[in-house]
This record gives sequence, C-alpha cells and structure tokens, in this order.
Amino acid sequence: MSVLELSARRLLDEMAAGRLTAVEVTQAYLDQIGRHDRDVGAFLRVDAEGAIAKASDVDERRRAGRPVGRLGGVPVAVKDILASRGELVTCASRTLEHFRAPYDATVIAKLKAADAVLIGRTNLDEFAMGGSTENSALQTTRNPWDLSRIPGGSSGGSAAAVAARMAPLAIGTDTGGSIREPAGLCGVTGMKPTYGVVSRFGLVAFASSLDQVGPLATSAEDAALLLEAIAGHDRADSTSVDAPVPPYSEWIGQPLEDLTLGLVREHFGPGLDAEVERAVREAVRVYESLGAKVKEVSLPHSKYCVATYYIIAPCEASSNLARYDGAHYGHRTDEKAMLAERDAERRHLESSGETAAVDELDTALVRMYRRSRSEGFGAEVKRRIMLGTYALSAGYYDAYYLKALKVRRLIRRDFDKAFDDVDLIAGPTTAAPAFKIGEKVDDPLAMYLVDLYTVSANLAGIGGISIPCGFTAAGLPIGLQLQAPPLEEDRLLRAAHMFQQATDWHTRRPPL
Ligand code: GLN
Repeated sequence: MSVLELSARRLLDEMAAGRLTAVEVTQAYLDQIGRHDRDVGAFLRVDAEGAIAKASDVDERRRAGRPVGRLGGVPVAVKDILASRGELVTCASRTLEHFRAPYDATVIAKLKAADAVLIGRTNLDEFAMGGSTENSALQTTRNPWDLSRIPGGSSGGSAAAVAARMAPLAIGTDTGGSIREPAGLCGVTGMKPTYGVVSRFGLVAFASSLDQVGPLATSAEDAALLLEAIAGHDRADSTSVDAPVPPYSEWIGQPLEDLTLGLVREHFGPGLDAEVERAVREAVRVYESLGAKVKEVSLPHSKYCVATYYIIAPCEASSNLARYDGAHYGHRTDEKAMLAERDAERRHLESSGETAAVDELDTALVRMYRRSRSEGFGAEVKRRIMLGTYALSAGYYDAYYLKALKVRRLIRRDFDKAFDDVDLIAGPTTAAPAFKIGEKVDDPLAMYLVDLYTVSANLAGIGGISIPCGFTAAGLPIGLQLQAPPLEEDRLLRAAHMFQQATDWHTRRPPL
C-alpha cells in the first residue's frame, strides 16, 4: 500500500513500529503536492524544507527512544488564517499579503508541540468570507473531483488538499459552514466543533461569536486524532471551554447504542437537489440498518438562518476588520501618490474658484485610510464591511442587529427542543453538489444561499460534521451533515465512524 493510502492513524502506527519514517511520509506528500497542486491550487505556500527538517527531528527522537508528540511525523496543512510565529499569514488578502505573524496561534503551538509536520498553508476565501474559495485575492483552487468546479469554501484549500491526498490532515475554520461545506463538496470528513472547544487565539477574526477552528481528514477517526491535538481550554481565549478534552480517538470505536436520528422537516423542501436528497436518505437507511431510529423534527426558525447570519457575521466583521487601516495593520497606500492626488485636487478647486471646497478636502490621514482599505480589500470583503457598518449604524441597530440577535436565540431554542427528542440531526451539508467556477460570482445572494444548512450550527454554537455519503451521476461528492447538542463532539465522531465502518464512500479518491 502506498503511504498516501494510509490513514493518519495507520501512519502513526507504522512510524511507531519503525516500518516507516516521518521523512518518507513527508516526502510522499511533498511529491504528491508536486504532481497535483499545479492543477488543484490548494496550497498558497509549501514549506518543503521546514517539513523535512521537522520530520528528520521526529525520526531522530523516535530512533533514540525519546518522547514524540501525538501527531509525531504526520503532515498537516493549515488554512492561511492562523498565526505561526515569523511566518506569513495572508488570509488570502492583498492587505495582509506580506504580513508576518509575531506569535503562534494556540492551535499552531499545539500542533508544533504534538510534533505534526506543518507542510504548507492552504488557500481560502479572503478573510474566510465566502463559500467557494473564489474570493481569494491570491489564487484559484479547483475541486479535485472536477477541476472546472469550486472546492467549496472558505476552507477550500484545506478540503482540496485532503481530497487530493496532498495532506492526510488539514486545519480549517468554520464561521457559517467553511469546514463542513468544502468537506462535503470535496468528499472528505470535516468537523466544526462546538463554539469554544478549540481556542481562537491567533486565528485572524472574521465574526468572533461564530468562528471556530476544526479538523479535515479522510475519516472521522483521523478527524478525532486531530481534534484531540488542538482542542482544550486556553487562558488566552476567554470563550474557550474550561473542561478536559475527551479522548475522542480512543472512544471512536464504540458504536452508539439506541441512537435516534432527527430529520429536519424544513431541510427537505424545494431547492434540494434530487441526487443529494437520494444519497442523504440512503445514508439514513444505513444508520437504520445499524439499529438507529429515525424521527422527524422541526426547526421552525430555520428559514431565518441565512438572513440572521448575514446580519450578525458582517456586523462582527466590520468591527474586526477596522484594524486593517494601513497604520495598525495591513497594506498601506503609496503616500507620495496620495499626496500628489490631494495636491492635484486642491489646484483644480483653486483654479476653478471653489476655494471654500478646499477646506472640505479629506485630510491626508483619512485619505490614507480610504486608499489603503480600497486597495487592500476585495469586493466581497468590502460588501461585508458595508453591510455590517450599515446594520450597526444608529437608527438601524435595533431594526437589524438587535433583531438578528433575538432570532439567533430562537434558532438555538429550536435546536434545544429538537435535541429533547433525538440524539443527532442528520441532513444534507449543502443543497447541491459543487458548482462551476465563476457560476455564482456575480450573484452574492445565490452564494449566500449555499450556506442554508450550515449557518444554523454556528448561530446556535453547536457542533456539526460532514462526511461523504455518495456521488452524483457526474461523479461529484455528496456530504451528509450530522449535528449534535453542545459539547457532544464525541457523539458526532462516533456516529460518523459507525457510518464509515459500514460504507466506503470516504475511501474513494478523485481521478487526478
Ligand atoms: N459562506 C459563509 C460566508 O461566506 C461562511 C464562511 C465561513 O464559515 N467562514 O460567510
């Protein structure tokens, strides 16, 4: 069997037994990146030298019988939105294109301590705003199953990297679906943990009450390994959950007895692709064959989820992104050109006799902010900032932001009620398979509707996982989403593992 076909779990066992070295494993993945990433475009940067150096260090320690971390020698790809000391963290934005992080995000520090091999940085929608990775200002990422299609987003690079076996494990972030959606569309396993399970310290903020870091892998078992390594309380993130991390990977083999799955009435309405629906219903039958019961549940406020999300997320984003003003952070405009522009405007006003207007000209500082931000941000980021600033402004705050917060509470209540009756909610991750690159770029509303089934988990703060559950006739992956009550990551992972023991969708590889 080739290294690329082994799970992270197996790689660890093989390395521990001395049958494989970390250098061999890392080299196999670097070679795969060399073969395929020109087509896929998952990585913004690959750190071959650093990866091999880390792998050799792990090998040396293993040979000497010295301690090695829990991910010792396993390559991990990281979405380019987490700070790693001394390294670029671009967020796929022009404004941070040359920004180097002054410290490690907690997730990065934990991965380093676990002796993971940080193999490279993956592409994303600019500041994680998007669902197709098309909003990256730096590069196009393609779906390994069909290179003319989007990989999903915003963690599209991480999902595509795992799908193309260019990394066995990857880190993504999920504010409204950005791990689960690309996982679903690329045919891999991706999990958004309960809000607070993983520290957000050093994660470049998009919408702080929704953002969560999580694992992408080829199986739930491997996702459990990665989650175990990155989860845990962090004094540097006061929203992180102060509880011990369960041994997810140890417990994963225990099947769930008396499992009751909930199917959400509102999730099977118009707009759901027929092939997706068929695959999801078939997946539910697999669970039934494993002894699960199925019940219909209702999330009556789910029709407001997308609208609520697209108020709250932009509001928080507009505030978080205020720091990229060219002075504190981010791209700074060419000041000579800016001053020349101002002089030219002044001369023009004076020569046309409008001397009073000269005093109204923007100051150099305001001009610097405006030009820096206009040049640094892409169209979608600007749209979010404008939406958020508008919804937060005096006079609109109550009508939009405050109302959205109230609806958010109702959405959470819907889940609480549903979970009185069922252990997990099952449904499609997205309503349709991956669409063509460029197909929706001119239609932001159509893009936002892609998030129909995923944003609710972020609004409610609960966990969700997407696992492969079939393919369309055209060969595109279909994702099944499971959602659980708060802090039931263990239940999600075990349920996903049960399915993966009974099916082989997750083992399929794209025809690259
Ligand atoms: N697609 C959603 C958005 O554009 C979710 C993004 C995310 O989860 N980071 O905001």
